[in-house]
Amino acid sequence: MSAATAVSARARSIRITEVSVTPVAFRDPPLLNSTGVHQPYALRAIVEIATDEGLHGVGETYATTGHLARLHAVGRSLVGLDVRALNAMHRRTADLLGGEGAAAFGPEGGSTAESTVDRVFAPFEVACLDIQGKAAGCPVSDLLGGAVRDAVPFSAYLFHKWAGHPGAEPDPWGEALDTAGIVAQARRMLDRYGFTAIKLKAGVLPPEQEIETVRALHAAFPGRPVRVDPNAAWTVPTSIKVARELDGVVEYLEDPTPGLDGMAAVAAQAPMPLATNMCVVAFEHLAPSVARGAVQVVLSDHHYWGGLHRSKLLSGICGTFGLGLSMHSNSHLGVSLAAMPISRRPRPT
Ligand SMILES: [Mg+2]
Repeated sequence: MSAATAVSARARSIRITEVSVTPVAFRDPPLLNSTGVHQPYALRAIVEIATDEGLHGVGETYATTGHLARLHAVGRSLVGLDVRALNAMHRRTADLLGGEGAAAFGPEGGSTAESTVDRVFAPFEVACLDIQGKAAGCPVSDLLGGAVRDAVPFSAYLFHKWAGHPGAEPDPWGEALDTAGIVAQARRMLDRYGFTAIKLKAGVLPPEQEIETVRALHAAFPGRPVRVDPNAAWTVPTSIKVARELDGVVEYLEDPTPGLDGMAAVAAQAPMPLATNMCVVAFEHLAPSVARGAVQVVLSDHHYWGGLHRSKLLSGICGTFGLGLSMHSNSHLGVSLAAMPISRRPRPT
C-alpha cells in the first residue's frame, strides 16, 4: 500500500460544530452524612457535542457555577477539533485553564479540589467517545479494548435519613435513624434491585452505634460484602478501634480518617483493606499513597480522574501496585451511570 493510499484510507474527520452545556436540578432525598444532610436538589450538567457528520454525543458532570463557566469556556475552544483528537482536546483544556497544574477551584462531588483540568475535560471525552462509537457502529467499550465482563456487580448504598426534607412530605423510603431502620432499608433495596454488596454511609451516629448496625447488616445478609464509609469523620484511634471490632465483618473500610498519613496509620493496624475517594483522587497522589501503604482500594470516578481513557490508565497503575479498584458514586443521572462501571480486585496479601 502506498503512503498516499494509506492516507486516503484513514477515516474521514468528524469535526465538532457545537457544544452545549445544560444544568439539571433533580430531587435528592434527605440523606445524612458526617457534614449534614443532602439538599432537596442535586445539580448536574449534561454536555452535548454536535458534529459536521450529524452525529451527537453526551457526557455528564458537576454543575456548580464556577465549573459551568469553565465548561462553557472549554466547550467553545473545542469547536473545529476532530472528535478523535482527545489528546489535543486535553492539551487545549489545560492551556485554557492555565496549564496542567491549573489552580484548584474548590471541591466538586464531595471529593477533591484538585485535578481541575481532568474534571473539566472528562465530560467532553465521554461525549466524543460516544460519537466515535456511533461513527464506528460499536459500543464505547470496544474503543477501549473490548468489554472485560458482561455484567458488573453494583452495591446497595444505605444512608441514615430523615423521612422527608423539612416542610416536605415523607419520601417513599421513610426514616432510617437506627439499626432497625437501616436493616429495613437494606432489605427493601436488595429485594427490589438484587444488589450483591452493601455500603453504609457512616460518620452520622456515634461509632459504637454504627458498629452495631454494620454487625446487624452482616448477620441479616450473610455472604454479601459490607463496606463502611464515614467520610473521614473518625480519628486514627477511633478508626483502628472500629476496624478491629469489625474484623471479618467488613470487606473494606472507606476513608475512616483524613489524609494519607492518617490512613497509613490506620492501614498498619486494620485487619481489612482501606478504600478511598478522598485522599487518592488524582494521579499525583498515587506514588505517595503506595509509598506509605495508605490505601488498598482506589474508588475511581471518571468525572475527576479525567474520563474513560485515564480511568483505564488508573486501572493499569492500580494493577501494577496490587491495588483494588472500585467505583465512587454520588448523585448523578443516567449518562454517568452508563459510563461508570470499572473495577479490579486488590491483589491478595
Ligand atoms: Mg466515599
